[in-house]
Amino acid sequence: MSTPVDLLIHSRWLIPVEPERVVLEHHSVAVNQGAIVDILPRSDAIRRYQADELVDLPTHTLIPGLINLHTHAPMSLMRGVADDLPLDRWLNEVIWPAETRHVSAAFVRDGTLLAAREMLRGGITTCNDMYFFPDAAASAYADAGMRAVIGLIVIDFPSGWASDTDDYLGKGLAVYDQWREHPTLKFALAPHAPYSVSDHGLERVATLAAELDLPIHIHVHETAAEIHQALAASNTRPLARLARLGLLGPGLTAVHAVHLDDADLARLAHHGAHVAHCPSSNMKLASGIAPLATLLERGINVGLGTDGAASNNRLDLFQEMRQAALLAKVAQQNAAVVPAHQVLGMATLGGARALGLDDKIGSIVPGKRADLCAVDLSDPLFAPCFDPLSHLVYVCGREQVSHVWVDGKARVRDGKVMLQINDSELLAIAALWQTKLVHRAG
Ligand SMILES: [Zn+2]
Repeated sequence: MSTPVDLLIHSRWLIPVEPERVVLEHHSVAVNQGAIVDILPRSDAIRRYQADELVDLPTHTLIPGLINLHTHAPMSLMRGVADDLPLDRWLNEVIWPAETRHVSAAFVRDGTLLAAREMLRGGITTCNDMYFFPDAAASAYADAGMRAVIGLIVIDFPSGWASDTDDYLGKGLAVYDQWREHPTLKFALAPHAPYSVSDHGLERVATLAAELDLPIHIHVHETAAEIHQALAASNTRPLARLARLGLLGPGLTAVHAVHLDDADLARLAHHGAHVAHCPSSNMKLASGIAPLATLLERGINVGLGTDGAASNNRLDLFQEMRQAALLAKVAQQNAAVVPAHQVLGMATLGGARALGLDDKIGSIVPGKRADLCAVDLSDPLFAPCFDPLSHLVYVCGREQVSHVWVDGKARVRDGKVMLQINDSELLAIAALWQTKLVHRAG
């Protein structure tokens, strides 16, 4: 007698990520009520399950949904607004002035929808977001049906969203209270960076993170200048300051972590903090090369992030996987470091661990939520395929993503994104913001 389930997916290859390096052939995933209930050979699955919906993927690889461990989704509306500038000039001369003029709840909602569409289309089912107006972001992610950890931003200067540290925290916590029961939205405290938040703000973040059991999402050691300025001002490295103020721990994701000395590496490892590695952003802003192979050797958990579209300029984890692997190899002059299975692990389970969600997502394991991504390898571009795991990192692009499920619900089918808002409406919204940005900048 067969068991009824909502969905049965047959796939040519299946890479569960847990256990590491495993590639299953001709296997199926049974999904019921948004959860993965079984992984088994296709021939057994046909006998054992009676599915409401059957999806056959005869030339595809099924992987866990990708997890973008660092982004600023609404900055998609500023994609390509300023290129070829270092971080300090990019922020001070272009991005912060544009944000001061334009950022509003409408900007955040529209930009988040645009980014969510891009991420889902490229197989990203969860992102760790940091921006203003987290209430507008929450409503956009809820409408898009994308899983997100929304950063409650804290920064020392005023914006359209809040006036000072206490105002940022007060408003952020009100958003958290309003949305905390949502099944696919979680929240983090997101102090922007050690150089943009005072000791008072950081201490309050540490206290609230402990009280509410919320993760912390912060840019750390992105540029050499950030460290020189901190040493000149207080003779303390930013990571040492975060440790002194009680922020460093297993709930903290240090974004970038490019410039690390031995003591910094020891601090991250000792406190069980995580790193969001953003290779494209680090290369484009010429921030430097994060010591990825060393972080992994020290047992520090690493996930991958795209950063915002204004500094990348695409929210594409296939690109980040390839960049991470290649950059680590050339930086170490060692082709053996960061192999494909490790980089796929970073883009999935590594991100889930950093967000404290590894009991729910990050691998294809019974009991976890059905966040899944199918990649079609039928085109001759991918022939021959000796190892689909290698192809994912070294050959494929996000264009090959054919199907995406979040919490068991289809968000991409045959390459078509299924949002409430259609593509022509999204394009019109993007064009409207482009006109505003150009007009006001001029
Ligand atoms: Zn960032």
